[in-house]
Amino acid sequence: MTLQERDKAVIWHPFTPFKNSPVPIPVIKGEDAYLIDEQGNRYLDAISSWWVTLHGHAHPYIAQKIYQQALTLEQVIFAGFTHQPAIELAERLLKILPGNFSKVFYSDNGSTSTEVALKMALQYWWNKDDKATRKRKIIAFNNSYHGDTFGAMSVSDRSVFTLAFHEKLFEVIFIDTPTINNLQQHQLFIQDNSNEIAAFIYEPLVQGAGGMKMYDACLLNQLLITCKQKHIICIADEVMTGFGRTGKRFASEYCSTLPDIICLSKGLTGGTMALGVTAVAPFIVAAFDSEDKLKTFFHGHSFTANPLACTAANASLDLFEIPTCQKAIDTIVQQNKEWVSQLLTKNLPVKDVRQLGTIVAFEIDKGKTEYLNTIAALITKKGLEKGIYIRPLGNTVYIMPPYCISSTALQHLQQIIIELIAEC
Ligand SMILES: *Cc1c(COP(=O)(O)O)cnc(C)c1O
Repeated sequence: MTLQERDKAVIWHPFTPFKNSPVPIPVIKGEDAYLIDEQGNRYLDAISSWWVTLHGHAHPYIAQKIYQQALTLEQVIFAGFTHQPAIELAERLLKILPGNFSKVFYSDNGSTSTEVALKMALQYWWNKDDKATRKRKIIAFNNSYHGDTFGAMSVSDRSVFTLAFHEKLFEVIFIDTPTINNLQQHQLFIQDNSNEIAAFIYEPLVQGAGGMKMYDACLLNQLLITCKQKHIICIADEVMTGFGRTGKRFASEYCSTLPDIICLSKGLTGGTMALGVTAVAPFIVAAFDSEDKLKTFFHGHSFTANPLACTAANASLDLFEIPTCQKAIDTIVQQNKEWVSQLLTKNLPVKDVRQLGTIVAFEIDKGKTEYLNTIAALITKKGLEKGIYIRPLGNTVYIMPPYCISSTALQHLQQIIIELIAEC
């Protein structure tokens, strides 16, 4: 039996209908920005394998570090024990994260990092014994995505992803991302209802799964100022935007008002292993630092701070901090700029061409914008035939390449995408 036949018999794939989905491609190797299949076909991974890969696939430096760690300590219970990779990673992250954070809480992925943030924010008010103020509500943006567990789904946009669970999700106040027109209305709403609002969770500047929708940093900053004035805990979900994707290390750096909690995953380990981080401001930590055992944060996972994952993250940070990495990011940003102006002048059926850092997105000007739009599958298929891998969100085409992509490869990718749009 082929891998594809064996797969079909036993595997349930994420976000994939059983019927009428393309047969999954067995990938046998990854190398730099490329994925290589059984036949030796090479695909340029233009979306960093769902936004995780930073420095390239099967990076020898990260692989070596993981190997050494696996021979030393592969896993240890993280209650009552600690280890060097977790401590080093926390120290390094606290130094570079945008905001005043004093503690790092580890979990397994992006969804758990936001889940932890929400639970900490709610328990903060619980621990403060401010029950009289009834600060239990959470604000999130329309069109947001914060993950697939129940808490993360609750603060995510109600969409086809969540349809089967709506009555099981907790109530959230959804507002539109800020515009010049709605900002004041948002601010008034927050001021009027601040007694009931515990926290505000947001994807800074780019709503990823919601279709790479971008919004203004100054307007977000204004919202953050209002939230902070009203003692609403600001939770930046940088699971996607972290580690250089937006051109700065973290998207929150585009704002002068910084979050109280920040969530990381995806690029955290350079895209090699699953790991989530929730970094927390001292005033929140203080509310849990009590003689009263009931104020403990009773949350954890079997693999909390797995030494291999922490080691991968430290190795990825090593590579991220080398000046050549920032240079590679700057080069992608510059090349993207030129591509954007090309897209605008070439008279293609595209609209809403937008860029933030290494991310470029636009809509194909045809049909309705929705996830189930069939054009996505067609573009992916035709792209693979031409040796590139992109995975549009509905009719939103975007690229988010790993930083190791060469200028030639990026130029090639951008050219092929223009051809694909013309063909489709
Ligand atoms: C992907 C993503 C998540 C969820 O991360 P997983 O590791 O897939 O659970 C949460 N928030 C944002 C902004 C994301 O892009």
